[in-house]
Amino acid sequence: MNERTDRRFAAQAAEIRAAGLWKTERVITSPQGAVITVETGTGSREVLNFCANNYLGLSAHPPVVEAAHRGLDDRGYGMSSVRFICGTQDGHKQLEAELAAFFRFEDAVLYGSCYDANGGLFEALLGEDDAIISDALNHASVIDGIRLCRARRLRYASGDVDELEERLKSAADSRMRLIATDGVFSMDGTLAPLDRICELAARYDALVMVDDSHASGFVGPTGRGTPEHFGMMGRVDILTSTLGKALGGASGGFTASSRAVTDLLRQRSRPYLFSNALPPPIVAAGRAAVRMLEGTSELRERLRENTARFRAGMIAAGFTIKPGDHPIVPVMIGDARVAAEVADALLDEGIYVIGFSYPVVPREEARIRVQLSAAHEPEHIDRAIAAFSVVGARMDLIPS
Ligand SMILES: *Cc1c(COP(=O)(O)O)cnc(C)c1O
Repeated sequence: MNERTDRRFAAQAAEIRAAGLWKTERVITSPQGAVITVETGTGSREVLNFCANNYLGLSAHPPVVEAAHRGLDDRGYGMSSVRFICGTQDGHKQLEAELAAFFRFEDAVLYGSCYDANGGLFEALLGEDDAIISDALNHASVIDGIRLCRARRLRYASGDVDELEERLKSAADSRMRLIATDGVFSMDGTLAPLDRICELAARYDALVMVDDSHASGFVGPTGRGTPEHFGMMGRVDILTSTLGKALGGASGGFTASSRAVTDLLRQRSRPYLFSNALPPPIVAAGRAAVRMLEGTSELRERLRENTARFRAGMIAAGFTIKPGDHPIVPVMIGDARVAAEVADALLDEGIYVIGFSYPVVPREEARIRVQLSAAHEPEHIDRAIAAFSVVGARMDLIPS
């Protein structure tokens, strides 16, 4: 690259670093799980992982891994094609049918990721005569998907149903109105008020789209996500979600909806038309994950118990956490630098967590985001609480 241009990029990177916003990758040398091995400057060490989206502990779960092996042996490694040319195997059709059945929709369409599912959704369904009303804290992929669409865009403060109603009124003259929201907001672990949202949608003749990536498989009595939690199954029109979190943790996403919508997506959705089909081992393991969700609630129960144990222990220790019962538990710190120091100190204690600060969360609301998993043992949780207590007392975050 010519030197002047390269210097320009380097200067931009240096600005990010100077602003304290530099993100690094910690290298893991074990499978994903509750106990992992990470590289340190001088070697490697074992730590307890509290920052994966491995909610049900399926990322390296033996039955899921075995299913991936079987898929590899039976159907090969890759498809070398998009779905509509020669990239559709029986497994793709079966997984789509099983996802649709589990989440109670007529049909589902697989994508390479939920990012793609959202990126290929809005533009395929809505045009300039329509309006999309979007929660301000929606995931980047929902925001990007909406930007690709020519519909009118309106935004409401996160979870603010009064503001949502105002927006619905001001979009009354649009042909269609679509409310787009994450089911769970990942920085807070809070749920979108889907009951109120669906009520407003009915009153103002709007569609409801929910991205339930941080809920599918474990939120709601049988893991069917935020629509189930709020008793709104059948009232959400479009559901997008990921296979990359609770449902095995590899990759892949999907959109579930009515047959008319999925038919149209298969004709028009660009990531579906122009990006490779999911590989057979992932399809096979995804099917195994969905079967496990259908079959037993043991993992969901364990996740619930672990979450309750951690939340109660942290409150008892004197920490401020965002209330709720989601396995995302934000431990509020305030100052960005302190949050980073707390995360470093916890790693020294063998607890791997990440601090989040502005611009991902509001200024002065820096936090440690702890994520529980069904893979954690009660003893792991207790060790995390003990480590937080030691570090918190040392840094004057809690009374010692
Ligand atoms: C993680 C996440 C995604 C992205 O999912 P991928 O399958 O990893 O692309 C999309 N939306 C939300 C709300 C998420 O949390």
